[in-house]
Amino acid sequence: MNEPLCRMCLQAGVVTAATVADHIEPHKGDRQKFLHGALMSLCDPHHRSTKQQIEKKGFYCDIGIDGYPLDSAHPVYQGGGGNVEK
Ligand SMILES: [Zn+2]
Repeated sequence: MNEPLCRMCLQAGVVTAATVADHIEPHKGDRQKFLHGALMSLCDPHHRSTKQQIEKKGFYCDIGIDGYPLDSAHPVYQGGGGNVEK
């Protein structure tokens, strides 16, 4: 594993050993994507909670140390205003 620490914990200023190498892009059984797709290291709680959020909403809601969501897909970055969750 290239990154021994959970990437999402790091973004939030916390150092946690990663236990999961997660495919950023779902590989859906594609062997090339599975072997060569980009990975990010996550701890187990992050892996479970963020994947559930992404599947339900299309983004995850974790907030970084700068007070902004960590996920660039979060509605706050989409510019349109609208119904941004608190
Ligand atoms: Zn984590």
